[in-house]
Parts: sequence; structure tokens; C-alpha cells
Amino acid sequence: MQDYKMLIGGEWVDAAAGETFESIDPYTGEVWARLPRGRAEDAARAVEAAEKAGRGEWSKLTATARGHVLRRFGDEIAAHADHLARIEVQDNGKLLAEMLAQVRYVPQWFYYFAGLADKLEGAVIPIDKANTFNFTRHEPLGVCIAITAWNSPLLLAAYKLAPGLAAGNTFVLKPSEFTSASALEMGRLAEKAGLPPGVLNIVTGFGAEVGEPLVTHPKVAKIAFTGSEMGGQRVYEAAARGLKRVTLELGGKSPNIVFDDANLDNAVKGVISGILSATGQTCVAGSRLLVQRSIHDAFLERVIAFAKTAKIGNPMLAGTQIGPVTTRPQYEKILHYIDVAKNEGARCVLGGGPAPHPEGGKGLFVQPTIFADVRNDMRIAQEEVFGPVLSVIPFEDEAEALAIANDSIYGLAAGVWTQNTNRVLRMSAGLKTGMVWVNMYRAVSYMSPFGGTKRSGVGSENGMSAIMDYVQTKSVWISTAEETPDPFVLG
Ligand code: NAD
Repeated sequence: MQDYKMLIGGEWVDAAAGETFESIDPYTGEVWARLPRGRAEDAARAVEAAEKAGRGEWSKLTATARGHVLRRFGDEIAAHADHLARIEVQDNGKLLAEMLAQVRYVPQWFYYFAGLADKLEGAVIPIDKANTFNFTRHEPLGVCIAITAWNSPLLLAAYKLAPGLAAGNTFVLKPSEFTSASALEMGRLAEKAGLPPGVLNIVTGFGAEVGEPLVTHPKVAKIAFTGSEMGGQRVYEAAARGLKRVTLELGGKSPNIVFDDANLDNAVKGVISGILSATGQTCVAGSRLLVQRSIHDAFLERVIAFAKTAKIGNPMLAGTQIGPVTTRPQYEKILHYIDVAKNEGARCVLGGGPAPHPEGGKGLFVQPTIFADVRNDMRIAQEEVFGPVLSVIPFEDEAEALAIANDSIYGLAAGVWTQNTNRVLRMSAGLKTGMVWVNMYRAVSYMSPFGGTKRSGVGSENGMSAIMDYVQTKSVWISTAEETPDPFVLG
């Protein structure tokens, strides 16, 4: 059993009330870590520490020096990536191969935004007034809150911390209550890298108990949130009362659209990657498979045949392709939606229930599940399952594919499989989603914006523009006139 403490103002502390909660390894089903159960008092201490750090040493560093610290932070994460990835697997049960790839990629966020830190240039504006000099400065917002989901703990944290710290802000990170350990381990690395105390605070606990007090704290300027639609709504409402800035990365019901002229070998792999990777527990899951009617039956057979070969097992082992479901509520939700789909009249052509425990595992497993004859107005096609459950919907032509794809309250991502270049351009313009992958699926980069439309979120992360979400642009006016003009007229 591993005992963890929280990081507040450069000190490793227990929750003020001394309470703890436990983290369960989703594969073994056993408790492996005990963490502080933070509440309002802890949230307040962390925000105060971040606010104080924002006035201290951190604010005196040049932007170039800030970039150096972030580069060292990236180096520390790179040096400890394997250890961090194993901790994440113990917490969320995702494949070690996936978590290794993610955590080894995380340093790139810090390197990229470290490079941008000293390129946040203001402008000298050729202002339309005589004897007046006007320029802009990009200043940090102050205290930012990063709240993350359990499926990709450090990656989602990096989306927020890297641009926000590069811009000179300070942070309180609240990782998911299911996957807090890797963030705390990362806190040690921040210290080693020379991040001044209080610049990055990490508090653990539950959304309602410590998350909400962070969001509502009057000294907080911005909240960057990744999580469920319901959690996002709560955060948005609370932030609105305090008139705070937000970035929200929420759920999805992304269409993966296969046309009859596609390279079908590749499309099958893309469909499987969209729905079975991470046991379907990914915001960008391609959970609606739209297939052109002319190839529908044959293509579906190929997807079923491929899905049948997926190896369920221990996520730590190299050969495993599908690991356990991360949490019991999530497991129950997936099984509930499988029942919903059956009751709605969707035809279950693969799986459709719990999977037996692989040897040694006591955790919660679900069979890869495919529903055919799904209509887009069914709940299984409209609501996010967050599990390995695919809904297959036929379409006639491009216009119908687009209409079905866009008939969703979500708009996170979409996949398009075709070899017709004109169609690629038409579809990528017509899809009302934040991301479109063509002849590929589920790729992310620190360089390219990531975010959704409609109920999938507000704003986006990654890419150069992300750093602008962490600054206030100040306009400075200087008169060079000998005499102040008429005080009763707008200047
Ligand atoms: P969740 O909303 O239950 O929790 C996310 C985080 O928010 C946790 O840290 C939680 O403690 C906190 N939280 C919850 N309620 C809160 C409140 N009222 N105030 C402050 N904090 C609160 O989501 P989850 O189950 O951890 O994650 C799964 C969801 O996340 C899925 O819907 C998935 O699509 C989404 N997700 C989105 C992205 C994206 O980038 N768009 C990425 C990963 C996951």
C-alpha cells in the first residue's frame, strides 16, 4: 500500500481534516494507494499558495528563464516516464503500451510551450490619434485550476499546465479521484526541475468536495476542465457566477464514416482503433460507425471478425489489447447502455455483456460489443457510453452521411474513410466537429488544436493558440502631447 500526500505551497501535506480515500487497481481489483481527501479548506490553502507564488520569484523570472524551467520539467518527466506510466496503469487499468506512449509524449508539451514562453510578443499599434503611443502586453491571468478525467491523467494535465505555466500563471491541479497518483509523482519532478514552491499545487479528492471549492474560489482566474458533460456544466455554472474564464473538454459521440471507395483494410483498423482502444474509454471514441449501404454487410463482417481477435487481459502485459473498465460506475453504465440498445431494437452482433475475468484479474471486463441496425435517433447512437460498444448505422450517399454525422448534440471528432480527394474536402468542411481525421483515427499532438463543438466543449487546447487562453492582453496608452485635450470629450 502506497501512501500519498498533496502538494501545497511547496509542502507535502495531508488533508486538513486528516481524511483519506483509496485507489483501486482496476485489473487486480485491489486497493493499492491511499490519498488525502481534500475539502474546501485544502482548496483554499492551495489557491492562496498559488496566488502568493504568482507574486513571488515566478513573476520575476524572465520569460526565457521560465521556458528553461519548463524544459527541465519536461526532461524530468521524460526520465521517469516508465515509472509514471506504470502508476497510471495501476490507477486506470489502461494498457501499459498506451500509457507509456502517452507519458513519453507528455514532455513534448512542456518543450513546445517552453519555446513559446518568450515569443508572446505584444504589438505597437499605429494608433489613429495624434501624439499617442499605444502598445499591448500579454500578461498572465493569475491562478488557474486544472481539473482532469481519469482516462489520460498526465496527458490531460499537460494540455493545461504547459501553456498556462509558459504564460506565467500558477496552478492548482486536481486530478481525477480515480487516478491521482501520477499527478502527485509529477509534483516531485516539478520540484526537482526548479519550479518555485506554490507555482504548481496538487490537491486530491472528489469533484463536489474539493473541485467545486477550487472553481468557486474568488482568487481563481481560469478553470481548464476535462471530464463529463455533467461535470463540465457544473463547472461552467460555478465559473459564470464568478465571471471566470473556462476551457471545457467534454464528451463525444464521434462518427467514423466509411465510404465504399475507401481502403477497407485500413478502414477496419481505424474503426477498431476508434472503439476498442482504451476499452472504448476515450472522449474521441468513434462510437458511431457510419457505413455506406453498398458495402455495409461485408464491411460489418470484417469489423466483427477483427474485434473477435482482440485479446482481453492484464493491461501490464504486452499482448493484451483490451483491459478492464476503470471504475465500477463506468462498468455499470456500459452494461446499462447495452440493455438500452437491446430494448431499443438494435441487433447485437458481437458481445453484449460482461467478459469473464482473465486469469489473475478480479477487475471488471466488458466484451467488445457491436450493434447493427442502429437508427441515429436511438439513445445508443446519441448518448456517450465510454466503453467498447459500437453502433453501426448505414447510409446511402455523402449527403446522408453528413446529415447523420451532424445529427448529434456532440461535436468532438469524426473519422472519414475515402480515397476521393474532393469528398475529403467536402466532408472535412461539412462536419460540425472540432477535429476530423481522414484515413486515420485518434491522433493528437501538442501542435494541433484539440477541442469540440456543441456539447463537447468550450474552447480548445494544444497548438500555438492555446497559450493565448492563459493571458490577458493589456492595452497601454501613452500621451506624448504637451497639453491634455478637452477633458469633457472622449479622447
Ligand atoms: P467527471 O466529470 O466525472 O470528472 C472529471 C473531473 O472533474 C474529476 O477530476 C472530478 O473530480 C471533477 N469534477 C466532477 N464534478 C466536479 C465539480 N462539480 N466541480 C469541480 N470538479 C468536478 O468525468 P470522468 O468520468 O472523470 O471522465 C470521463 C469523461 O471525460 C467522459 O465524458 C469523457 O468523454 C470526458 N473526456 C473528455 C476529454 C476531452 O478532451 N474532450 C478527454 C478525456 C475525457
